[in-house]
Amino acid sequence: MMRLPWFEFRAPRSIGEAARILAGEGPHAMLIAGGTDLLPNMKRRQMAPKTLVSLRHIPEMKLNEHAIGAGTTLTEIVKRAELPLGLRQAAHQVATVHLRNMGTLGGNLCLDTRCNYYNQNYEWRKAIDFCLKKDGAICWVATASKRCVAMSSTDCAPALLALGAKVKLVSAAGEREVALENFYNNDGIDYLKRRPDEILTEIRIDNSPSCYWKLRRRGAFDFPVLGVAAATRKKTQRRGDRRGRAAGGLAREAHGQCRPRSLLAQGSHCRFRRLRAARAARRRHARDPPADHAVRAMKR
Ligand SMILES: Cc1cc2nc3c(=O)[nH]c(=O)nc-3n(C[C@H](O)[C@H](O)[C@H](O)COP(=O)(O)OP(=O)(O)OC[C@H]3O[C@@H](n4cnc5c(N)ncnc54)[C@H](O)[C@@H]3O)c2cc1C
Ligand code: SF4
Repeated sequence: MMRLPWFEFRAPRSIGEAARILAGEGPHAMLIAGGTDLLPNMKRRQMAPKTLVSLRHIPEMKLNEHAIGAGTTLTEIVKRAELPLGLRQAAHQVATVHLRNMGTLGGNLCLDTRCNYYNQNYEWRKAIDFCLKKDGAICWVATASKRCVAMSSTDCAPALLALGAKVKLVSAAGEREVALENFYNNDGIDYLKRRPDEILTEIRIDNSPSCYWKLRRRGAFDFPVLGVAAATRKKTQRRGDRRGRAAGGLAREAHGQCRPRSLLAQGSHCRFRRLRAARAARRRHARDPPADHAVRAMKR
């Protein structure tokens, strides 16, 4: 049985208190929301923070009239009919019911990158002399590479990128808003532009018709090998506005800007077909719960 390492647990009641604790503890502290990603990683000794700062007892992380609180669980996202279909489809396809009941949207966006040589227990990693991401000197995926090429496997990021989402980051020093497309680095170790003392508190989106498709090895539950999202753009939005298409499970360059036009479409004709599909999905959603669409899309 894999056991957690010892750690100190702090349970602040407000975002301000959490930010002060993070600032005081420095890089030895980590945030924990649902813990569905962090706790298994800690059991495998991929990380061993001295202090865990819980976000579960902070009402401001959830209740928010103007944006989606980062502490909203994935199950709550799926149930909120006023949210865009693409985001609800993505949330619905994350892991299993139990994990969605605990896992939050903020935790999903800050998910650690994954790799077969890294998501293993300590002894396994020790047997291969570890790797660049932690304790080692070589990347086993790309042995000539000087940097870790592990990918983000979040389902919700592509859906939110397509919707042109912005995230709010709060620290003891102040707050800032970052477009989600600028939130990720093309680096498997330093994968977020978030500083260690910053808390992702909320996500802002425009509610446009959208959809999300996921490719995974096991139908029952699995991380995405590829996630593709599309959202319609209002006529009033600028031509240069990047929202519209996004893909996950790829390098950062492709992540937000959807270089993989080839994946979605060879040219605009097919792209419009996808957008029409998104509108049709929205009309269907008015009749059925999104869960059914997601399952039907997977069966197709
Ligand atoms: C068996 C299994 C299957 C899974 N399948 C999928 C899948 O198919 N798709 C998928 O996307 N995910 C999957 N996951 C990963 C995970 O369950 C989800 O991504 C979940 O949404 C993570 O949210 P959480 O609140 O539990 O994050 P946590 O585990 O609490 O945190 C994850 C990371 O985010 C940081 N963090 C959390 N909240 C914040 C915040 N507000 N501000 C700043 N940093 C923060 C934490 O410090 C930590 O580094 C799976 C996990 C398991 C165990
Ligand atoms: S350094 Fe290479 S082997 Fe290690 S996690 Fe990153 S991609 Fe995987």
